[in-house]
Amino acid sequence: MSEIGLTLEEVHSLAARVLRQNGCNGDNATAVADVITAAERDGCHSHGLMRLAGYVASLKSGKVNGQADPGVEKIAGAVLRVDGDRGFAPLALARGRKPLIEAAQTSGIAALALTDIHHFAALWTEIEPIAEAGLCALACVSYKPAVIPAGGSKPLYGTNPLAFGWPRANQPPVIFDQASAVMARGEVMLAAREGKQLPPGVGVDKDGRATTDPDEILDGALLAFGGHKGSSIAMMIELFAGALIGECFSFEAALRDNNDGGPPSGGELIIAMDPKLFGDSEGWAAHAEKLFAEIESQPGARLPSARRYRNRVETASAGITLSAKVHESILALCEPAGAA
Ligand code: NDP
Repeated sequence: MSEIGLTLEEVHSLAARVLRQNGCNGDNATAVADVITAAERDGCHSHGLMRLAGYVASLKSGKVNGQADPGVEKIAGAVLRVDGDRGFAPLALARGRKPLIEAAQTSGIAALALTDIHHFAALWTEIEPIAEAGLCALACVSYKPAVIPAGGSKPLYGTNPLAFGWPRANQPPVIFDQASAVMARGEVMLAAREGKQLPPGVGVDKDGRATTDPDEILDGALLAFGGHKGSSIAMMIELFAGALIGECFSFEAALRDNNDGGPPSGGELIIAMDPKLFGDSEGWAAHAEKLFAEIESQPGARLPSARRYRNRVETASAGITLSAKVHESILALCEPAGAA
């Protein structure tokens, strides 16, 4: 299969062009293109250029407002809200980030509630700049039902990722960013396409019976990681990104979604903490480094995010490669409807 090479600048300008051609204004297109480019740069391709078709579908269907003008407001003490104005999440996040960081640096802890957004991306891109500003951070978002509550048989929770970041001196933050499901739905779709069976414990069929057949799981549901423990984390994320901030649960998002292939509307919660204001203002950073050193001293163990940072170094000089077929399908997104 033939492949083409793209620099990261070319990735960004391609993504921004596709988005502008399909109804995003400059600010919204740039914010989404930033997130797509970061994903390609770090080797997280399932949140990179591949997502453009979904972004475009929801602009074309009118579900998402490509001209969104998100506004930030303080709703209590150090609790802020961004009304996403029915747009994609990245611009709302970009507008809320600085006020969140400043509020955490003043109060020790601050929260940002994002409402009326359409979230279709990885959370680490959101956590990293907050951690680079010297803060610890947590973020979580729900989606549409794909995961059954432990012991149940029907999808109820989204794949509901939770991300955490810890700042470090003179090196990038430690970040983990993980779905609450055993396996991302995209991976199951890939296995189905390739005719591969999955390991036991990934999901159930439409009648709630355990299966290793990816097609049956896509018809049925995924399991939460770690049994009832991951299931409770998925529940917590529904509550944080839903009831706490006046937004919908995954099952409510599905009811109002038009299933155009793009992200449903919903909410997100981000919490930021300033470690300088939690009682060990001088020692916290060096103390954390002792833990990281212990982890890395064990053969085979690594810090979460190390893989991404390694990829980042490589793509900075080499750019990325993309199959020519995928590149063509992205260029086709710029063509007017009905064009050959
Ligand atoms: P993975 O299981 O691939 O990775 C989860 C985390 O574990 C990453 O931080 C990863 O770091 C880390 N990790 C992986 N292997 C190791 C290891 N051996 N030792 C230490 N850490 C390790 O991610 P998921 O499939 O669960 O999620 C993929 C992405 O999908 C996330 O970015 C998430 O935000 C996104 N997502 C978005 C949704 C949405 O609605 N917007 C819904 C669901 C998921 P590293 O990257 O360095 O490998």
